[in-house]
Amino acid sequence: MPAHAQPSSRIPQRPHVVFIMGAGRSGSTVLDLFLGQHPLVQSVGELCNFVHDGWIERRLCSCGQRVPECELWSRVTELWKKRSQVDLEAYEELRNRVEERRSVLWQMFSRPSPEQVQLGKDVRGNFLTYAQWTAGLYQAICEVTEKIVVVDSSKNPARGLALVLMAERLDLIDLHLVHLVRDVRGFAWSVKKSFRSDEQAGVAHDIRGLPVWRSALAWTFVNSMADLVRRRHETSRSLLVRYEDFVSEPTPVVLQLAGFIAIPPGPWVELLHSDRPIEPGHIVAGNRLRMQRHIRLRPDVEWQSKLSFAEKMVIWLLAGWKARSYGYHYRPAASELDQPVGMTSPPTGHPLAGPHFLASHDRQSTGSSPVSESAQP
Ligand SMILES: [Zn+2]
Repeated sequence: MPAHAQPSSRIPQRPHVVFIMGAGRSGSTVLDLFLGQHPLVQSVGELCNFVHDGWIERRLCSCGQRVPECELWSRVTELWKKRSQVDLEAYEELRNRVEERRSVLWQMFSRPSPEQVQLGKDVRGNFLTYAQWTAGLYQAICEVTEKIVVVDSSKNPARGLALVLMAERLDLIDLHLVHLVRDVRGFAWSVKKSFRSDEQAGVAHDIRGLPVWRSALAWTFVNSMADLVRRRHETSRSLLVRYEDFVSEPTPVVLQLAGFIAIPPGPWVELLHSDRPIEPGHIVAGNRLRMQRHIRLRPDVEWQSKLSFAEKMVIWLLAGWKARSYGYHYRPAASELDQPVGMTSPPTGHPLAGPHFLASHDRQSTGSSPVSESAQP
């Protein structure tokens, strides 16, 4: 982190935001952490939860400090309050209305201008207030960190749509949307598992597993919404990325992302070919993975041996039509097949940056948390 917080001349007036959108447990924290290793990019995790989790609940930042004690977030918040005159409680109320209410989501889709979106009379401010405060937060992050791009992996398509309105109608931010999709069966396997609350491990509360039919429907709904939001944004600023492509062949995906965001790919490519650890940074909310220090990119194949035949059939009957639109097939390609149980050869995977992405084989032996899922549904 820089020693001073004076605005740098290279910081643009409109903050440049890369928003990772899609269903939970699709690998967004992995991608967010990776992108944040670039010297021009600041990774922030699920920024939608910044005020609630960080300031109201006082949860841990990935640097190990509680958010109010984290130097970076303290300075960001101080600058944000000074510049935008933001009231944190009022902001959280507005954010909740815009991003969590279905009625507001439909208004954002259907109303011709964002000024017409009604958030209710019992809330302080309106959509414009929400938009200006949100843009002010991104701007404060850019200025304090002296980075030119902020990666926000909040995922929620409603927030994505609000950001599209802020970019295209209100000219408050420069926005690139990344719709991250993971095979519905990998998602369903991840969501089926339960986790006990363990704040140090990045799990803020107990998480109960869901039956696969429910997760298949949820995956279909969220990704359908994300498709609609993606089509609302300028074509050249919207990109679909499959998580499986990123973890199995990262270099082409990373080059594509660099061209898409328009920053030099060098630092990411170099990282892929080095043993340099991934810095944990200051991820304020998201996958429990953000609290880990040893991660390795590996193909996402665990679901193939863990889900029963009946579960795979149910998932495919409910969500196969949508999965096919992203290029997934009922029978994975030979290169995507899991190794037979008991196979003794070393697990495959990309030798990325020493610390970070664990394979299924590793976590069976170490008891560590899986990498490719998010602790937040
Ligand atoms: Zn921190």
